[in-house]
Amino acid sequence: MLKVPLLDLKAQFATFRDEVMPLIEAVCASQQFILGAHTRALESETAAYCGARFGIGVSSGTDALLLAAMGLGIGAGDEVITSPFTFFATAGTIARLGARPVFCDIDPVTFNLSTEAVAAFLEHGCERRDGILRNRVTGGRIAALLPVHLYGQCADLERLGALARAHGLRVIEDAAQAIGSESAGGARAGSIGDVGCFSFFPTKNLGAFGDAGLCTTNDAALAERLTILRVHGGHPKYYHRYVGGNFRIDELQSAVLRVKLKYLDGWTEGRQRNAAHYDGAFAASKIAGRIATPRALPGVRHIYNQYVVRAPDRDALRAHLADRGVGTEIYYPVPLHLQECFAYLGHRRGDFPEAERAAAECLALPIYPELERAQLDYVVESIAAFYSATA
Ligand SMILES: *Cc1c(COP(=O)(O)O)cnc(C)c1O
Repeated sequence: MLKVPLLDLKAQFATFRDEVMPLIEAVCASQQFILGAHTRALESETAAYCGARFGIGVSSGTDALLLAAMGLGIGAGDEVITSPFTFFATAGTIARLGARPVFCDIDPVTFNLSTEAVAAFLEHGCERRDGILRNRVTGGRIAALLPVHLYGQCADLERLGALARAHGLRVIEDAAQAIGSESAGGARAGSIGDVGCFSFFPTKNLGAFGDAGLCTTNDAALAERLTILRVHGGHPKYYHRYVGGNFRIDELQSAVLRVKLKYLDGWTEGRQRNAAHYDGAFAASKIAGRIATPRALPGVRHIYNQYVVRAPDRDALRAHLADRGVGTEIYYPVPLHLQECFAYLGHRRGDFPEAERAAAECLALPIYPELERAQLDYVVESIAAFYSATA
């Protein structure tokens, strides 16, 4: 039986091992583990890659989101509009700052925050009082929009950005899954909002050897504030104008990431090639139409951090694939408005039907660049066998 894990990073490591090990050795020899030359270089190289002016390396994607929101002054009494269908950190960071996540439903085609839903909320759910845009129900100040570029496809940056500008909202991009992805207008993730937040968690397209992340921005003053907040708000050292935190990236991670960044476009092409192969194989299979394959909108550069299908009888399919040695994952089984820790927001099942339907149907298939054709075909055949048997 063929084995097709959801992700296998060992083959990739073998391709750049000889390049990265001497750098790790050199960092160890220098004993300069925090904010050194590799970090400064990574920041400018990654910012350039994302089409942004400044990069600030941080300790994780979660901390990138937290630092971004802190840098924009978001806190108690503020509300941030975001997607209920995302990794927990997107809304968790808002709540940790004492602000309130406000969910709007997703677009069923892209799984990203629906521009129409956001526009409707701004029009009907908010009102301007004394020049401040407030939630009609809670009275909270609507401070920012936090779209997520889910699975590696940009949210509708152009139209969401226009809405934000029209209403005076800041924009934080959760680009954790989307390094190098481009919107239909050709803008790279992390180059349009006030801050772009990236994760270098090992399973992301550009993964470190542990936790790491980065913020991008085009705003020089904001870049400086983020840089200061990253070191407890001390500037100069031991003189604190703000309360920040320890959000620093490790120098070892920066060294690893600089090597891997050079390979990223090649790996992205591999993921895109695999996605195109799946698309064609599913369309040609006898179960064409039984599962919905992911749609990349015209003009976007989808980087396929995940290849997510919608599958009827998803959980039984997943068990069947596991029996056949095919790894899959559900990103994400419970939409955030139904998480226990957000019960205080007062949501019920049915509030965001598209997010709930996505949570019930979505299934991520193996898509990493080193997969062989035979493995991709085996995944498609295994899925076809499941539906043929239950037809
Ligand atoms: C991975 C991820 C994060 C968090 O990144 P970490 O580096 O794991 O802290 C945030 N948002 C989304 C959408 C993610 O996929």
